[in-house]
Amino acid sequence: MEFGLLKGYSVHFGYEWIRHKEPKVGWAKLVWSKWALPKHCFLNWLLIRNALNTKDRLYNIGICPDELCCICGADRETISHLFQHCRYVTEFINSLCLWLNIPVPRGNGIIWLGMRNWSPVMKCVCIAVFLCAYYAVWQQRNAARIEGVIPRPTILISQCKTLMKIRILSQLSRAKKHSDREWIQHILM
Ligand SMILES: [Zn+2]
Repeated sequence: MEFGLLKGYSVHFGYEWIRHKEPKVGWAKLVWSKWALPKHCFLNWLLIRNALNTKDRLYNIGICPDELCCICGADRETISHLFQHCRYVTEFINSLCLWLNIPVPRGNGIIWLGMRNWSPVMKCVCIAVFLCAYYAVWQQRNAARIEGVIPRPTILISQCKTLMKIRILSQLSRAKKHSDREWIQHILM
């Protein structure tokens, strides 16, 4: 059918007509959070889709001479190792959980947090922090790979906290419940 012959044609309609569609996934709302920065959302979308080019993949297609983790060098750099088991990342994530006063998630923190029966505001803040944290891990992994720079987890924690405090302050009007505001005040201290 010619678009020119259609009444009410719009670019949106044309785009929807030609684009490839897949079924909606349950975790999409967790990743595309209003509390998070768009670059954090995008990186995590790739992460949950298992679409980041970690060294195990690059090695398999002959781009990398080895598949060791860029950060610790102690194990194969897979998505699971880099974001859940690398000792550097574990220390970073544990400190963030201590700051938020929550248990350390099992598996991907975004999916795990999405399943908690917590207040919506608390869940949104924690998810935004984890979106930021995983972005920071990938950024540091790239810095380690390209420049050979590996910062200490304490510096990364401080950077992540500072960024997220500013972000939480900008969204504070969304927190109406007294318990949410009290918890937020605690993490902003
Ligand atoms: Zn590692």
